[in-house]
Amino acid sequence: MAREERRVKVSMQDVIKTFDSRNGEVVALNGINLDIMENEFIAVVGPSGCGKSTLLNIIAGLEKPTSGQVLCDGKHIEGTGQERGVVFQQYALFPWLTVKGNVEFACKIQSKQKSKAEIEQLALKYIKMVDLEDFINHYPKELSGGMKQRVAIARAYAANPSVLLMDEPFGALDAQTRTQLQEELLETWDKEKKTCFFITHDVDEAIVLGQKVMIMSARPGRIKEIVDVNIPYPRNQETKISQDFMDIKNHIWSQVYKEYLAVRK
Ligand code: ADP
Repeated sequence: MAREERRVKVSMQDVIKTFDSRNGEVVALNGINLDIMENEFIAVVGPSGCGKSTLLNIIAGLEKPTSGQVLCDGKHIEGTGQERGVVFQQYALFPWLTVKGNVEFACKIQSKQKSKAEIEQLALKYIKMVDLEDFINHYPKELSGGMKQRVAIARAYAANPSVLLMDEPFGALDAQTRTQLQEELLETWDKEKKTCFFITHDVDEAIVLGQKVMIMSARPGRIKEIVDVNIPYPRNQETKISQDFMDIKNHIWSQVYKEYLAVRK
């Protein structure tokens, strides 16, 4: 899969984020400079509390930086926007809507002009994409964790964002479901050409998915290193036994481990 990097999609310049807490000011991010290119897949790893979610929430427009600039398509991010879709670890589905209803809801956001039939057709496309056409009329409570996360992914895609922000979306799933969803995500990323920013605590997952793996340092969060993953796509579980994979994994893991030790001090 040859992927040509075109233009800067998201740009962060000198981003600092502090929070007031009971124990005083917490510096969550301390000087983030990052360009995410259009259609790029960046996976983010780092010790717990190093500011990964804060960074994602700032790009999503759910948090405002204390200082610095954040741009998407050259425009300042002022809040949430349809071009930026978010998938969290907890699938925030509407429990009173079926799979179809949940995905249609997002399709309506994408286009207010579309007829009921067009919305249905579009929703079906994304439901098929995540392999849930047999469960179209099921409610969230009737689905497994993996299925609910599939609906959340279908719903995120249905709103047709150009940037997909994913915060440990597979973190709560069993190993087999996680593997399946990783492969589906890569297929869809290839077909739909999105920019992906994907947080994980799993170094293997980061390398299987990302063109780049961004390692964050222990608090206050900074970018420690961005590692190019020069392993061709399509990638799958067999990728994990290649020497290239092992070499990259050893390097990333040693860097992340240093940061874990810094947190424990
Ligand atoms: P990560 O996703 O890497 O685990 P977070 O971005 O969630 O890290 O948090 C970074 C730091 O900012 C942590 O120390 C966390 O406790 C703090 N933090 C995050 N959100 C808030 C908040 N709303 N209020 C106070 N502190 C916060």
